[in-house]
Amino acid sequence: MHVTSLDDWISRAKDTPRSLRGRRVFLRADLNVPLDGNRVRDDTRIRASLGTLTRLLNEGASVILASHLGRPKGQVNPSLSLAPVAVRLSELIPNPVHFIADCIGKEAQTAAAALSPGEVLVLENLRFHPGETENDPKFAEELAQLAEAYVNDAFGTAHRAHASTVGIVHHLPDAVAGDLLRAELSHLGVVLEPQRPLLCLLGGAKVSDKMGVLRALSERADVLAIGGAMAYTFLAAKGHSVGQSLVETDRIDDSLSIMEAAKTNQCKLLLPTDHVIARGLEEDSETRIESEIPEGWMGVDIGPMTATAYAHEAKLAQTIMWNGPMGVFEIVSFASGTREVAQAVAGASATSVVGGGDSLAAINQLELGDQINHLSTGGGASLEFIQGLTLPGVAALEK
Ligand code: ADP
Ligand code: MG
Repeated sequence: MHVTSLDDWISRAKDTPRSLRGRRVFLRADLNVPLDGNRVRDDTRIRASLGTLTRLLNEGASVILASHLGRPKGQVNPSLSLAPVAVRLSELIPNPVHFIADCIGKEAQTAAAALSPGEVLVLENLRFHPGETENDPKFAEELAQLAEAYVNDAFGTAHRAHASTVGIVHHLPDAVAGDLLRAELSHLGVVLEPQRPLLCLLGGAKVSDKMGVLRALSERADVLAIGGAMAYTFLAAKGHSVGQSLVETDRIDDSLSIMEAAKTNQCKLLLPTDHVIARGLEEDSETRIESEIPEGWMGVDIGPMTATAYAHEAKLAQTIMWNGPMGVFEIVSFASGTREVAQAVAGASATSVVGGGDSLAAINQLELGDQINHLSTGGGASLEFIQGLTLPGVAALEK
């Protein structure tokens, strides 16, 4: 895979009449931030985007900045406007930041054409138009008309062939990867070409969400340690009693075939051998630690013996990939398994990559982020990438 980096692009542009000064660059970023009314509640993603954005601005480019926010489903929805993002951005950088209440059309074109070097135009939510997720060629062409070159820095949507990630590149062939996107590719690449042993820790709510990843990793990992609710589908498949634990009965066959694939590929597949079980999902629900789960109880966390075993694997590993909490970590009394695994991953000498919204929340809660080699913001895109699948948004940038 080869995508042009911002560095190469900028230095190459310097030697030609097509230097970035005064050029209009379309920057597809991930500014999908949580809002509180018309204020940005958490600006992490905006700040993460500043690296690529300010490099372009410092080169004298005029940046047309675009993103989706939430799921407006192709309709204008004022509560999902990017206007608050533009306001927050203008507080973070000294450059002039303009906002336009659409992402295509005459007014957007006029506003884009009027930009001076070093100015930003934030477009309204791309997904207010159905053409975005449909990758409509006409819509993609209209986006492309705003600019002369294209930078994609939105790794989180790179697994989707949308107008702003794929269609637009047909019209703006001068297309490169931003720094965030490249960092994700190179850090996640470690899981595809790992130093061994490779330990994959998978947890979270649903087997069905992570089916593809489980299958791919059962073929590639040296150790695949499973926790979270998904463990109970596997345990049920093996004939264990799981009480009222979250089980996806229509995935039992799949979990059997994953266990079979692991065996064939000499991947050591580990399931919890003890559990924190509870009568319900309340903070004060009665709990016990058991190896088998009786009727009327549900598994809410891996037990201490399992946590120790998984932590031990983390010590032995050279590469660790973790996705999905080991239990219902939002509730303090069910958070120990996730905490112990997080501490083990953070303390391990292995190269570590953690992904998944809830897993990152757990890591951040524990303030262990700076002890992890890479915190992947990609969600679905990360999961597809570590399966070895081609991401359409990345493929579009390959020359
Ligand atoms: P991530 O966002 O890291 O990919 P997921 O979204 O797949 O993780 O799963 C996170 C959710 O899984 C959390 O809300 C957590 O409470 C839930 N979960 C974990 N273990 C269990 C369990 N044993 N029973 C029910 N829910 C669980
Ligand atoms: Mg989640």
